Amino acid sequence: MKRSKVIEVLTDGSVGSKVVVKGWVRAFRSNRFIQLNDGSTIKNIQAVVDFENFDEALLKRITTGSAIAVTGELVESQGAGQAVEIQVEGIEILGDANPDEVQRTVMQPKRHSLEFLREQAHLRFRTNTFGAVFRIRHAVAYAIHKFFNDRGFYYLHTPIVTGSDAEGAGEMFRVTTLDPINPPLNEDGSVNYKEDFFGKPVNLTVSGQLEAELGALALGQVYTFGPTFRAENSNTSRHLAEFWMIEPEVAFNDLKDNMDLTESFLKYIVDYVLENCKDDLAFLNEREANEQKTKPQNERNEMSLIERLEFVSKNDFKRLTYTEAIDLLLQSKPYKKGQFKFDVKWGIDLQSEHERYLVEKEFNCPVILTDYPAEIKAFYMRQNDDGKTVAAMDVLFPGIGEIVGGSQREERFDVLKEKCKAFDIHEEEIWWYLETRKFGTVPHAGFGLGFERMIMFVTGMTNIRDVIPFPRTPQNAEF
Ligand code: ATP
Ligand code: MN
Repeated sequence: MKRSKVIEVLTDGSVGSKVVVKGWVRAFRSNRFIQLNDGSTIKNIQAVVDFENFDEALLKRITTGSAIAVTGELVESQGAGQAVEIQVEGIEILGDANPDEVQRTVMQPKRHSLEFLREQAHLRFRTNTFGAVFRIRHAVAYAIHKFFNDRGFYYLHTPIVTGSDAEGAGEMFRVTTLDPINPPLNEDGSVNYKEDFFGKPVNLTVSGQLEAELGALALGQVYTFGPTFRAENSNTSRHLAEFWMIEPEVAFNDLKDNMDLTESFLKYIVDYVLENCKDDLAFLNEREANEQKTKPQNERNEMSLIERLEFVSKNDFKRLTYTEAIDLLLQSKPYKKGQFKFDVKWGIDLQSEHERYLVEKEFNCPVILTDYPAEIKAFYMRQNDDGKTVAAMDVLFPGIGEIVGGSQREERFDVLKEKCKAFDIHEEEIWWYLETRKFGTVPHAGFGLGFERMIMFVTGMTNIRDVIPFPRTPQNAEF
């Protein structure tokens, strides 16, 4: 008989039919009730055993963490919590799990700390929380491809190994096949990269944007969705050394179009999760609510996870310029009371305490900040007429901070060349990027969404290490 998945049995299994279900045992109570999960849904199927009918030695092997196949008839459930259950006729042990060993793992059914779960990232998929997070992560990835495909964008695969380090988005990881103990040297003692695999120094990419622009200036609308790497030594709850980024790039778009695209894109993802991940979301909502109860009243979230998602879906993002934001900060209570750690004045790079004030206190909704000082943004952002600011935009989310960074790109050849000079970027490094501005250059714009930060928002997880299967952070590349 063909195996049925738990989700199929629970959603459209008909009472009286014979089924085979395979999965991992979550619990076996009273030598009678097996909770079986196969990953197809957060819900377990209950399999009911009449122990008189089975060998004792066999029943002993049905333990938390073991894998089994059960055959039986689907019957209406007597207990609360599920509509149907399986009246077991046959049991096959597929994989044993030693109960003594299970004791020391995250599979042991009790509350574990997220830190402990992280140490067992190879097993944490077996828990409800991480099952929910990674099913949602998948759904969001799918929604992103669907959003762009439905709107005529092309998925462009930009390189992961790159020779350009002009992006300036962060420290890079060098990729080399040279012998680290005895590399070939130049006469002056420096490493001779001409003898390296690519004949020059190369790194892991920090962003696919520059290459995406090349594609957009022919294909019209493209997006990338791939891994990016940053060797920043920042051990925060929102930075990874390896993370995934989505970078759409659109010819003929200006900054306003770019903001509109971003806002509709982020709302689409949120709506998709609300519509398609109901069970997992309900579980995470409940999980967060329970955790909130352990916190002092004034540290609790004002809205539940689901309420926050609905709020973002239904409300316009607040749009304002960097200059307006600085003015608001200068008027703010924490500024006047000297409660900000970092000073506020026009020209500073906003610190996360400033962003959080704007998003969580001043507006209480997602915020799009635009038109930042040129000095604190990348060379490729379009110079505004005031000569001081560029057509940049950052999207700030409650509880997350920056989730998207983007801009209208500098399309004017002469201005861009000047910018390269000012940022000390050598033309021979980036000649291919400059060339697009020589042949039919047009206004265009794009942005980068940090995939994991979006997953944090839609799952309510507060540490970025808990929304990627195997996090890479400073001093940590286990698994
Ligand atoms: P931040 O100021 O938070 O360090 P950034 O300004 O360096 O971010 P960008 O270069 O604008 O980031 O990258 C685009 C997006 O990628 C960010 O808005 C964020 O969502 C995400 N992102 C950036 N760095 C990281 C990181 N180290 N780990 C996870 N996501 C990141
Ligand atoms: Mn940014």
